Parts: sequence; C-alpha cells; structure tokens
Amino acid sequence: MAHTPKVVVIGGGIGGLTAAAALHQRGLQVTVLERARTLDPVGAAISLAPNALRALDVIGLGDETRDLAAWQGDGGLRTPGGRWLSRANTEALAERFGDPLVLLHRATLINSLAAQLPPDTVRTATAATLADPGGVDRPARVHTPEGEWEADLVVAADGIRSGVRRTLFPEHPGPVYSGFTTWRVVLPVPGAEPAAHETWGRGRIWGTQPLKDGRVYAYAAALAPAGERAPDDEKAELVRLLGEWHNPLPATLSAAPPEAAPRPEDVLRHDVHHIADPLPAFHRGRVALLGDAAHAMPPTLGQGGNQAIEDAIVLAHHWDDLAAYSAARLPRTSAIARQAVRVARLNLTGNRAAMAVRNTLIATVSKAGPALLLRSFDGIADWRPPQSPYASGKTQADNRQRSTPREGRLHRTR
Ligand SMILES: Cc1cc2nc3c(=O)[nH]c(=O)nc-3n(C[C@H](O)[C@H](O)[C@H](O)COP(=O)(O)OP(=O)(O)OC[C@H]3O[C@@H](n4cnc5c(N)ncnc54)[C@H](O)[C@@H]3O)c2cc1C
Repeated sequence: MAHTPKVVVIGGGIGGLTAAAALHQRGLQVTVLERARTLDPVGAAISLAPNALRALDVIGLGDETRDLAAWQGDGGLRTPGGRWLSRANTEALAERFGDPLVLLHRATLINSLAAQLPPDTVRTATAATLADPGGVDRPARVHTPEGEWEADLVVAADGIRSGVRRTLFPEHPGPVYSGFTTWRVVLPVPGAEPAAHETWGRGRIWGTQPLKDGRVYAYAAALAPAGERAPDDEKAELVRLLGEWHNPLPATLSAAPPEAAPRPEDVLRHDVHHIADPLPAFHRGRVALLGDAAHAMPPTLGQGGNQAIEDAIVLAHHWDDLAAYSAARLPRTSAIARQAVRVARLNLTGNRAAMAVRNTLIATVSKAGPALLLRSFDGIADWRPPQSPYASGKTQADNRQRSTPREGRLHRTR
C-alpha cells in the first residue's frame, strides 16, 4: 500500500495553519500541535496584501478572504496637526498589483484556515519540542507531554521565540528589540467612522482602518525602552501620548457613549522584536522553519503574516526538497525584513530634522501621483506563487532554477 507522508506542524498561528491546509491539499497526513489552549489569535486585525491573497488563492481561500475583508487604502498619511501628507488610493493599488490591500480580524483568518483541515488535525494545549530533525535515512521526531511523533516532515511555525530555531541553529543570536512598542485595539464605532489613515508624529504613529463588520482597527507605535509599561493602564498611556493629536483620535479613545469606548484591557501592547541576522537556511534534516520562526520582521510593511502565508504555499510546493524551499524563501524574506527595518527607522524617527525632510519628501512624491508611492511595494505585492494559475512565465522559470540544488532533498520514507 502506498505510504502517505506524515507531517507534524509545530504552532497553529497563521503560518502553521496555512502550511497545514496546503500540505493537506497535497495529500499529506498533517497534525498541528499548538501550545495554547485554543487557536484564538493574539492581536487584533491583520492586513493582507495582493501577494498573500494570491498565495491564499492556491488553497482556495483567496476569494473567501477578499469577501470577509474590508478594502484598505483610501485614506492616507497625516501629521499630528491633521494635515494630509499624502492620499492613498485603493484603486491605484489594485490596478498596479491586481488586488487591493485588505484588512480582516485575525480570528476570521484563523477560522477560515482551520476550517480547511479535517477534524482532529489540530491538537491544542500541546507544547512540542524537536527531539531529532531526522535525515535521509530516518524520520524526524517531535516530543510532546503525551508522547512522541515521527514525521517525514516537521514544519516549525512556532513564532518569533521558536524553540525549534534554537535547537537547529544554537549559534544564531535570535531576535533583537526593534526599538519601539505597539498598541492594538478593535473598536466598536459609536458615531461616524474614523477615516482610514496613518498619522506620523515624532517617534510615534497612530492609525485607524475600518473592518468589514463595521468596527475599526486602531493601532499605535512609539519609540520606547523594551519592557516599559504604563504605570496605570495602556489606554491611559495612549491618551497621554496621542491625546493632543488631530481628531478623531481623542474622540475615538474616549468614545461616547462610554460603553462603546475601548476598555483598558482591550488595548494590547507588544514590544516589537525582529531577526536582524538572517538564518543560514530555513531547513535542517526534515525540518522546515517558516513565518516568524524563520524571519520575524517589524510590522512596518505589514508583511510578517503575509510572508508566513507565502512560505507555507512555497513549502507545500517543495515539501520533499527543503533546500529548494530555503533557496526560494531566504533571499526574499531577508530583503523584505531589511526593508521593514529601514521603514521603521524612517516612520518612527525621533529626530526633528529627519522628520521634516521625510514629510517634505512624502508630500512632494505624492503630488507626483500615487504610482510613485506604490512603487515601494514593487517586488513585494507583485509576488506570484509557484505553479499557480497566476504565475508568470518568468516566475515559473525562476522557481525551476531555484529548485535545482539537490542537497537537502528528502527521500520519502515508506
Ligand atoms: C503590532 C503588530 C502588527 C502586525 N500587523 C501585521 C499585518 O497587518 N500584516 C501582516 O502580515 N503581519 C503583521 N504582523 C506580523 C504578524 O503578526 C506575524 O508575522 C505573524 O503572526 C506570524 O505568524 P506565525 O504563524 O509565524 O507565528 P505566530 O502567529 O506567532 O504563531 C506561532 C504559534 O506557535 C505556537 N507555539 C509556540 N511554541 C510552541 C510549541 N513549543 N509547541 C506548540 N506550539 C507552539 C504559539 O502558541 C502560536 O500559536 C504584525 C505584528 C505586530 C507585532
């Protein structure tokens, strides 16, 4: 009887669940081990760019995601006083990249991904460690408190603090602090919906974007020492940092009627870390790393989750040739991570002179038309998955070239 290859995915976040769905669709037998008691995601909303939507098309989830999400983009960039530095235009983005930028609640995306899997695929409350990465002549082994799993392929999707990454690459320095902290909250909107926008101040950012269900996703970022927390609560901290900024920010935070205003405990605060030194590879033996475990990046391009989704689709394509997977993903994600760090420095600069130059530059460039600003997404949003109906001849040729290295190719165990 033909052997059905077995896959163990460690981590049931966006990357792990996308990989599980894609590998299941390729006919592999998949189990997802998730440490948390439920799949409820940490964080509020997530924006997906055309590259991730095309990746989701491969597993049949693109259109469902487009339907569940709100189009993002009409709005733009403002100064704390309220002046518009640039106006964004969803249509221009969709025209250039074939799709808009969309925003949806993280739980919505997680539920859609989990619904692609057969019952009992996901085992929650199951923390896993890598016991043996395996090799050409032996399966990988994963340890859990309930027992050990053997697998033809282990997908390490265990996030920025990945234990698997530490086991496979003990010499790697791991993530570093990006220098800023973030707040996120989903708000019921009591009155007029706050306009979609991002506002850049000195070392501080605030943005709001509408969700499809009528609520609003609001986020903020500020330069701060790692580990610092508000003396009282994080909602009060936001009012202190940003309460003098243009409306509707103060109104949004202290929304009337009071029962519609965000409660302090609804405001999530996270310090941002990223992997500054790329890993030497995204695989070892029969183990493939993906998502934040492989290449955590600052959220300034909104690409961390998008890249995890791309990884998952490419991994399902190259599941039995992990060197080809590494070769396809490492250069791209490293370049995007470096760009996200550069953009973070620019967006969150605390230097007045640098801020003035930045604002003048943005205002000048945006006067020349949205196309110039959109070019910063060239090479990111125009990505096409391997062998998808969307794939251009060039991308398929690239992928064929990239799949040539044989080192790391796995023999399917029987
Ligand atoms: C403020 C902020 C805003 C962001 N906004 C966006 C955005 O708009 N768009 C975007 O694309 N990205 C965004 N990101 C980045 C995005 O959140 C991450 O890149 C993405 O969640 C990574 O997904 P992942 O599956 O790799 O890891 P995670 O989502 O971290 O999932 C890892 C999972 O592994 C589990 N796990 C860990 N260890 C174990 C273990 N030993 N055993 C079993 N399970 C384990 C964890 O419980 C978790 O469920 C943002 C990030 C931040 C901080």
